Amino acid sequence: MLNAESTAAIEIGLASPDGSLRGWESAFAEVRDQLVPAFVQGTLGRFEDAFISQGCGPRGRPDRRDGPFACPRCGARSGFRRRGRRRRTVHCRLGRLRLVLQMVGCGCGHRFAPLLLALGIAPHRRVGPGLERRALELCSELPYRRAAAQLWREAGTAPSPRSLGRLVRRAATAIDLARPRPPLRELEAVLVDGTRLRAGPRKGRDDRGRELKIAIGLRRAGPARIELLGAVLAQGWDALRPALRSARHAAIAVTDGEWGVRAALASALPDVPHQVCTFHVRDSLDHRLWQDGLRFAARRALARAVGNAIEFAPTALDAEAALDAALAMAEGHRWRHAATHLREVRPHIATWLRVDPGGAIAHTTSLLERTMREVNRRVDPVGVRWSLSGAEAIVSVLLARRFSHPRWRRLCEDRGRTRAWARIR
Ligand SMILES: [Zn+2]
Repeated sequence: MLNAESTAAIEIGLASPDGSLRGWESAFAEVRDQLVPAFVQGTLGRFEDAFISQGCGPRGRPDRRDGPFACPRCGARSGFRRRGRRRRTVHCRLGRLRLVLQMVGCGCGHRFAPLLLALGIAPHRRVGPGLERRALELCSELPYRRAAAQLWREAGTAPSPRSLGRLVRRAATAIDLARPRPPLRELEAVLVDGTRLRAGPRKGRDDRGRELKIAIGLRRAGPARIELLGAVLAQGWDALRPALRSARHAAIAVTDGEWGVRAALASALPDVPHQVCTFHVRDSLDHRLWQDGLRFAARRALARAVGNAIEFAPTALDAEAALDAALAMAEGHRWRHAATHLREVRPHIATWLRVDPGGAIAHTTSLLERTMREVNRRVDPVGVRWSLSGAEAIVSVLLARRFSHPRWRRLCEDRGRTRAWARIR
């Protein structure tokens, strides 16, 4: 146990030229903003004295026993010498700290600041982990400029919008949503879907952007029902395959039914039965009927009737019978596009009723649709075109935070066994 106490005599003044106390709140708020960082700096300084003494021994008598910190380069825990001081400004949830850090030299030649390491701040960084977490949360919801302004209001300090962008990129590299998670045994369903984001260099006039592909897993119930498996931007379905593998014990995989995702599933999850999202079937049927020249009212009514017959079918056989009837009708009327579509989805239309005759298992990707809308809200404001890497970074942080991905939870912690106290006499 390392303890440090710091006491300070505080003198707080209040003056008014004409006796009116107009503006007293903002005056005191300014005082408060000075006090808190001053206390933190003072107490951390006292702590550092004790910390360095334990690691280096008393001045003039180097200690050979293991200390409370290790060299970040070679891992040695003893044989340190004091090697001067260095100034460092640190942004944290309590405001801006101006620290004068004690430096230590290791036998391997490395020089470092043990206090900074203990604070969870990597060399050359200047943001505390608590503020970093808050900054990433804000950045996943707001443009960088507004996130910086909001941080100022909350913490009295903030990195620049450009630094926030760098923070997000670093976090995204650590999260790396293309990297697979360990196998998740208790998953029931996998949902896979894509959306388009306006990012990367423009391609022609009717550029629809780059596709973001997301895979999530669902448990039957419980508070942590949804697990983010992975996501990739502007890459083929192959790139999502390793992430999909962590759901290989799932009972069903639901997709929008496109050829690319079906091929990826067949190779990544060969043992998981495939269901085409029933909402997507309905939408695509409407679109194909339009391609076949049907008028709005007719195709809408027909798509709805077929969709409902599948959606509310009591058994798999009933669902397939409904589809076969629609297929016969399409063939009879020579609706070529619609017939092709129905023939393609036929093998995957009733999987959910075969896997779970009660019909309680997932058979749509609608949970993902909601997520897609959130992503689009952050990445597609009017008139903004993201770089590919910028969009990828913000999407990684947004998704990892939304679904509480384990690598997000480990990213920067503002929790631990540290205790602070104050006595006001
Ligand atoms: Zn070393």
